[in-house]
Amino acid sequence: MARHSARDVRSENRFEVLHALFDLGPSSRQELARHTGLSQATVTTLAGEFLAEDVLRIAAVERKRVGRPYERLTINPDRGRIIGVDVAETYVDATVYDLALGVLGRHEVALDEDQNDQAYVVDGIAAAIGTALAASGTGRERIVGVGVSMPGHVQHDCGVSVFAPNWNWHDVRIEELLAGRLELPLYVDNPLKAAILAEMWFGAGRVVDSMAVVNIGTGAGAGIALEGTLVRGATNNAGEWGHTLLALDGRPCRCGRQGCVEAYVGAPGLETTLAEIDPSHPALGQPGQRDFVATLAVGLAAGDPVLRELLRRTGRHLAAALGDLVNLLNVPTVTLTGWLPKALAEWLLPAVREELPHHVLPGSLPGLTVDISEVPGNAVSLGMAAFTLEQFLNRLGLASPAGTRPQPVG
Ligand SMILES: [Zn+2]
Repeated sequence: MARHSARDVRSENRFEVLHALFDLGPSSRQELARHTGLSQATVTTLAGEFLAEDVLRIAAVERKRVGRPYERLTINPDRGRIIGVDVAETYVDATVYDLALGVLGRHEVALDEDQNDQAYVVDGIAAAIGTALAASGTGRERIVGVGVSMPGHVQHDCGVSVFAPNWNWHDVRIEELLAGRLELPLYVDNPLKAAILAEMWFGAGRVVDSMAVVNIGTGAGAGIALEGTLVRGATNNAGEWGHTLLALDGRPCRCGRQGCVEAYVGAPGLETTLAEIDPSHPALGQPGQRDFVATLAVGLAAGDPVLRELLRRTGRHLAAALGDLVNLLNVPTVTLTGWLPKALAEWLLPAVREELPHHVLPGSLPGLTVDISEVPGNAVSLGMAAFTLEQFLNRLGLASPAGTRPQPVG
């Protein structure tokens, strides 16, 4: 299955071999050929290029009773280290990965959602990275790249946070600000692009080539893959489904419009809905959004009828908005990711599934699945690490990823 719209077939085939190794674990050249549909001669050539750069290594040599011994190949985890960073409105999560994208260490720093100073956010990123490196016992000299996801509109080819509505940031040169602090090769992108890349490599996107991953926290958005290609749009701003319209003249949204999906399904949207049902509900007194959602999970588990009504209404809002997304794209698979759906999955998922058939056209409904993402750990950090791995392979001359544009060595 093609996962990139690469013009370079050889580069595309290299990614197929790499993805097969992520899917299968240590594999013989024959197994890789069978899994990718490439000829064994092609796999042997491509694997040879990876082996020469030490990106792959021989995991084992197995001898059969008859015939020649064969080698099992694997991604060399110790070829380098990669850091994936998810910067959200309420936290920074930094994860240190080996080159096979196994997690070595992780650290989260809470961000005050009312602070929007650039230095404050950059300090938070540097602190999260520093502690994650220490936790994993990784020296900086081993790091081959850092991928940082920033909320809002990001120009990924020049590392600029174009517009982050929650912080009122406009044209912030985040890559420059971070480069001065970290002195490591950097790649900056948007969480929706990171989340869909993680799905394509490690989640539902391994078995379907068109899907959407819906990321919900403070805000909401959708990462989209169509026919194996990550959808960026003309200015890398595709997927802003959170700012499509759910209610004409509805609730004010932080983007300036009224009635956006995000104003109903994001954490502040749930607070507004709860206040409409019961303005004196104790869950409304929480200091932050994540405390609020954690309190909801506790109350729902205890059977609080007001919170059940909140989830019923939220399920309707989300199903209506997902119906629009599915009707527009005709994707067979939607996954939900982010801290809010993960905390409330037990109640949110049944509510959405019950409502969804009322909002999806019959032609798009057969086989449609909506599930919580099975990507392990923080999908945005993992997706940023995958982009960074693509960049690293590009610098070695092994790939010209279509998901990301080539960048100069940072
Ligand atoms: Zn909006």
